[in-house]
Amino acid sequence: PVRVRYAPSPTGYLHIGGVRTILFNWLFARKHGGRFVLRFEDTDPERSRDELIEPMLESIRWLGLDWDEGPDVGGPYGPYRQSQRLDLYRQELDRLLAEGKAYYCYCTPEELNAEREAARAAGRPAVYSGRCRHLTEAQRRELEAEGRRPAVRLRVPDQGLVTVRDLVKGEVAFDVAQFGDFIIARADGMPVYNFAVVVDDHHMAISHVIRGDEHLSNTPKQLLVYQALGWEPPQFAHVPMILAPDRSKLSKRHGAVAVDEYRRQGFLPEAILNYVALLGWSPGDDREILSLDEMIQLFDLDRVSHTAAIYDVEKMAWMNGHYLREADLDRVVELALPRLQAAGLLDAPPQGEERRRLRAILDAVRQRVRTLDELVEASRYFFTDVEGYDEAGVRKHFDRDDAIPILEAVAETLARVEPWTQAAIEQALRGLAERLGVGTGRIFHPTRLAVSGRTVGPGVFDVICWVGRERCLERIRRAIG
Ligand code: GLU
Repeated sequence: PVRVRYAPSPTGYLHIGGVRTILFNWLFARKHGGRFVLRFEDTDPERSRDELIEPMLESIRWLGLDWDEGPDVGGPYGPYRQSQRLDLYRQELDRLLAEGKAYYCYCTPEELNAEREAARAAGRPAVYSGRCRHLTEAQRRELEAEGRRPAVRLRVPDQGLVTVRDLVKGEVAFDVAQFGDFIIARADGMPVYNFAVVVDDHHMAISHVIRGDEHLSNTPKQLLVYQALGWEPPQFAHVPMILAPDRSKLSKRHGAVAVDEYRRQGFLPEAILNYVALLGWSPGDDREILSLDEMIQLFDLDRVSHTAAIYDVEKMAWMNGHYLREADLDRVVELALPRLQAAGLLDAPPQGEERRRLRAILDAVRQRVRTLDELVEASRYFFTDVEGYDEAGVRKHFDRDDAIPILEAVAETLARVEPWTQAAIEQALRGLAERLGVGTGRIFHPTRLAVSGRTVGPGVFDVICWVGRERCLERIRRAIG
């Protein structure tokens, strides 16, 4: 059966790369009727903190993804935190030590440094010399009497190749000579990643390891551990790196990378998932908008690219705009409400007629924005005074001899429109243009600018209608004055 996992170190927050890894694993599990496991690699006491697990779970929940086993829900292969599995690692370490496949190493960091320097000076690869490989019991006791605490190293063949058969990258061969006998448990007894991950993946019956290709170089070491432990390794699929548009490694300096930051900016989870799915995967045609169900249906590791994906936040924002327009309007209202309140544009959630107005405003404005932040920003003038006029707009539409008489005529016209609907407003203003013998643009543009302060936005009749008659008249008078 398919069993996949996401195994983050709880070092704070979920970033875009993590989302992609989660999504690919989740899609793969759902597609094959398998299980998706969450496991926290929290053995580094310096960097991993308890209180960082729940926020990551919350981010994944917010995205709309779920997991079948994990630290909160448990499962048959728990516990799902490495810090609670230390006995298991110890047990497997002891087995390797007893079988002579691993050994204690007493070298101090200084000694190891000196060794590396010497190797470098001699032009040899800076790998461990293996000098603790053949310590006798007596020598070990002596070193321990000095107060040294040993690390554990895996005995690695001196030469040979380890070949990773990767479902994405194909066959990649590594020369074991570059590894030397590497450490699998530190002097403080903590297992290192390359050891613990193997013990966990095996004991959790993981069938496929789908992870970022920054781990590809770890995989041969993990294969050596599988071999030493006498276990069949899972299948591997290393998904391509995500790069910034300038092809450098994606980092904070390229803007937000944390999911929570996108949530704050007003991205919708379905847009993030849709965008991230296409980072290194494609459905096989040029479709870009895909629901989760469609992704499950179409997902295939065969179609994961082996070259880097470029992360383009503008593209994701575009996609978000699409989902914002498609979303159920009441959901958008609920999402926008706290933001409008935080911006000081609304007090209590409006009821009745006011709620109807809010819905109509948000529906009109969402046609041209990409995020909830932008939605609120672009809605300001419906709820508060015009705070200033777009400068280019002023030059173009106000700085003309006929601007004042036209706006005066608009005000007179709007004062009399009945009923106060978009259609009646449109008819009245078109009639005015005809009477004055000017193009409709000469009426609509200065009116929009006077009423909203802006040159772009929803249709001008929507703007006039939902700003409201009294406010429109006031704003036009102010623009003239
Ligand atoms: N804790 C590792 C990481 O966050 C897990 C890598 C793996 O999936 O094996 O990168």
